[in-house]
Amino acid sequence: MRIARFSIDGNVAFGAVEGDSAPGAEGELVLDIIKGIPFADFELSGTKVPLGKVRLLPPVLPNKVVAIGRNYAEHAAELGNEVPDAPVAFFKPSTSVVGPGDPIAYPSFSQELHHEAELAVVIGRMCREVPRERVKDVILGYTCANDVTARDVQKRENQWARAKGFDSSCPLGPWIETELDPGDLAVECTVNGERRQLGRTSEMVRSVEDLIVHITEAMTLLPGDVVLTGTPAGVGPLNVGDEVAVTIEGIGTLTNKVIKRG
Ligand code: MG
Repeated sequence: MRIARFSIDGNVAFGAVEGDSAPGAEGELVLDIIKGIPFADFELSGTKVPLGKVRLLPPVLPNKVVAIGRNYAEHAAELGNEVPDAPVAFFKPSTSVVGPGDPIAYPSFSQELHHEAELAVVIGRMCREVPRERVKDVILGYTCANDVTARDVQKRENQWARAKGFDSSCPLGPWIETELDPGDLAVECTVNGERRQLGRTSEMVRSVEDLIVHITEAMTLLPGDVVLTGTPAGVGPLNVGDEVAVTIEGIGTLTNKVIKRG
């Protein structure tokens, strides 16, 4: 099931996306409004609205986004880094999250903004110290993410809080796919229609299971929390006016435009 979060007539709701989302067919998509929230048992209301009539929002509002760096060997190498012995984990704050179609505001303190297309894991239930065999049980589904990074700031500041945590640095969407094997999916990033990144999740140094075990050794994850799994090679600059799109096989496309911060 594809679960979207959206606003219509000033109300916010979740809905199940129905129909064919093949390129050019998006106009056929409808949302069956969910009664309640998708983090517990829920029912579909049967009330349907065309996707074109709503504004899609970030599919979740996470309490925290835990992101993993250098999880694709080729990407680590392109920035002159080794694959670390243990996964590098960092936070992106809840205020960095924006939805599909929302602007990415170029931060005033950077001259080198980069895109990073990533598979995002959406947590479905409160969990800690999750054993490997239980990881599937704590995952609600998967969505697309862009771990937008002020690369120059990342290089000159030891902690990445500003470089990767500024407002609008974490686009998520367009929806959560709940029926998906994350093991070998194509992850692509285009800028103004031109391909910049293309990798497969099978190239990840640590799998989704490895990462959830590693993170929950240290901290409790809450329903709606998001784990970013790292980016494949090909990261590169974003400029004001660019349209950046992250497409993940089996999920869909997350598109955002870069604007000057007002
Ligand atoms: Mg990243």
